[in-house]
Amino acid sequence: MTGTSIVMQLDRVGAALRRVERPMPQPGPGELRVRVLACGVCRTDLHVIDGEVPANLPIVPGHEIVGRVEALGDSVAGVAIGDRVGIPWLGATCGICPYCRSGHENLCDHPVFTGATRDGGYATHAVADARFCLPIPGGFGDVEAAPLLCAGLIGYRSLVMAGDGQRIGLYGFGASAHIIAQIARWQGRDLYAFTRPGDAAGQDFARSLGCTWAGGSDERPPVELDAAIIFAAVGALVPAALKAVHKGGRVVCAGIHMSDIPSFPYDDLWGERSLLSVANLTRADGHEFLAIADQAGIRTITTAFPLDQANEAIAKLRRGELEGAAVLVPLM
Ligand SMILES: [Zn+2]
Ligand SMILES: [Zn+2]
Repeated sequence: MTGTSIVMQLDRVGAALRRVERPMPQPGPGELRVRVLACGVCRTDLHVIDGEVPANLPIVPGHEIVGRVEALGDSVAGVAIGDRVGIPWLGATCGICPYCRSGHENLCDHPVFTGATRDGGYATHAVADARFCLPIPGGFGDVEAAPLLCAGLIGYRSLVMAGDGQRIGLYGFGASAHIIAQIARWQGRDLYAFTRPGDAAGQDFARSLGCTWAGGSDERPPVELDAAIIFAAVGALVPAALKAVHKGGRVVCAGIHMSDIPSFPYDDLWGERSLLSVANLTRADGHEFLAIADQAGIRTITTAFPLDQANEAIAKLRRGELEGAAVLVPLM
């Protein structure tokens, strides 16, 4: 197939994305090409643009891609032309390193990351390794499904890592927390949401999604928490969250990048509190989470932008002006 594709490309760290017309990308062996239906804007994209997460420049960001398969390379199995698939952050793994061989492909030594080391979905078309694409449940619209593919998925992995506790704190109430709050409520848990101090709108949003309590990140919750998940890229939240969990409690850092964690007294960690990070995702996480999202009737709250307004969407996310998730939609 010939023709052209339109992409929003990052040429250098800190630059605005530039609209570029390119020859239509062709899928190689094991790959497929989708027509992009929607692509979410994730905080990690800001880290890529700011040079805080390594990327191969020039790069097309975007790793929450919902697309319709329109071309298949050789030896692709299990996917057909016309299928709707999701393309997440984990674009491919080596399959042979100790992590891949022990069921921890999220920690692969030689991974491919969509929108960082291979071109992503801020585009009209994208090519992906077919083995790493995920089926999207039919109940979700294209725009609605996009944030599930990273905000939802990484949030879900974080929730699992947080353990089975009843009282869960969520630090930072954006795209990820608004999905995970719904899952945790569906599981019957109690949620305590922390926003930027004074963000009354954010706190109302959290309460509207079933959070028992919402306040500023400088406040203590009314009860001791069993676990806390930190979605905001703010290292100072780590000691705050450790203080909010009881003995044996867990604090999970969900982001790929965070500002430095300030020093804190050992007493805050003492009592078998644990602190851990969540890195990437496995394909098994993807299949498990999308099935649960469907079952739990998750509804994502999104703001759609035309593809060529990617820079505006990024600016709004950066300024914290979005409720829920930004999603780019190519005008076809
Ligand atoms: Zn590997
Ligand atoms: Zn992401």
